[in-house]
Amino acid sequence: MNASLPMLPFADPGAGYRALQPEIDAAVARALASGWYILGREGEAFEAEFAAWLGNKPGAPRMHAVGCANGTDALMLILRGMGIGEGSTVVTVSHTAVATVAAIEMAGATPLLLDIDPDTYTMDADELVSVLADPPPGLPPIRAVIPVHIYGQPVELGPIQQACEAAGVMLIEDCAQCHGAELGGRKLGTIGHAAAFSLYPTKNLGALGDGGIIATPDAELAARIGAIRQYGWVRRYISDMTGVNSRLDELQAAILRVKLPHLDAQNARRREIAEAYDAALSSTPLPPPRRREDAYHVFHLYVLRHPERDAIMARLKAEGIGTGVHYPVPVHLQPAYEGRVALGPAGCVETARAAQEVFSLPMYPELTDEQVARVCLALRQL
Ligand SMILES: *Cc1c(COP(=O)(O)O)cnc(C)c1O
Repeated sequence: MNASLPMLPFADPGAGYRALQPEIDAAVARALASGWYILGREGEAFEAEFAAWLGNKPGAPRMHAVGCANGTDALMLILRGMGIGEGSTVVTVSHTAVATVAAIEMAGATPLLLDIDPDTYTMDADELVSVLADPPPGLPPIRAVIPVHIYGQPVELGPIQQACEAAGVMLIEDCAQCHGAELGGRKLGTIGHAAAFSLYPTKNLGALGDGGIIATPDAELAARIGAIRQYGWVRRYISDMTGVNSRLDELQAAILRVKLPHLDAQNARRREIAEAYDAALSSTPLPPPRRREDAYHVFHLYVLRHPERDAIMARLKAEGIGTGVHYPVPVHLQPAYEGRVALGPAGCVETARAAQEVFSLPMYPELTDEQVARVCLALRQL
């Protein structure tokens, strides 16, 4: 190991702040001086700007956006806004952040977890089609499907959308890892009935604290969700429906307004880094991540897989390169869920295998060319 070089961290959320520090500091000062800290002008402006950015591709519907406290709540609020809770099954995958499954249970619904396509790590569309045609016995009726665009890679939405339409089931996109990704020239989050975005600091669009935002082309659904996020208020102090407290605060909204205009360029930088890693891997036994055709992958994470993952990670660590595992234990094998949560007919076999083999390289737009070169050099030695 070259001892003169500091460890290159797997993630560096502070770098995202430092890169835009003067602008962010000014926005924070403006929000502080306004004297209004929850659901005000900054939040409204961010919702409008995010909706406009999301819907800016030809053929996209007009989008509506509602800020909330985090990405988990965004999913829960969508389900509640659709009236999906107790007595409903919601289908998703086990290969995801536990938040996806936690949100389904927070809404009161029953999760059903499907397997993934091992090449793209996204929902197995064939298994979904068969589950919708022939639901597993003993579960409440299926009312919604939540595919997860994991690592920044789009799910194969075409057949999934068709199957949902045929079955009269809601399609909710988990967009926590895919801000700015596209499929067939459409931004993800504009294809289903609604989409949930996390704004956690390390996401492609990240606050400097917690945050989330819901997007939907359905104005009525957006209005309902906007009420549910604040005690079910349509008029102040009067709950027309039962709600929760899940609001995006003005400081985070002001910061996100600074960051949003940089997102497209930052995603392009992530893709540039991914290409450099791809090239470095060409002489190694590690195949680079698959990209779905007709997709714009935004590399929230750059994920490789190998049966001897732990040894490879240790060698990279010895070269001063930090790595991560997303995720080490699939949801259906975690203590809180194991033996209790329903699985699809494929039994999540590919999911369990992937969890033992995947690992992620440093991937954030602030990585310098020198840092990327360091990672590439270490990769070439594998
Ligand atoms: C981060 C994440 C969430 C949850 O977002 P929080 O803001 O942490 O609540 C949900 N789904 C996926 C796939 C995620 O990566």
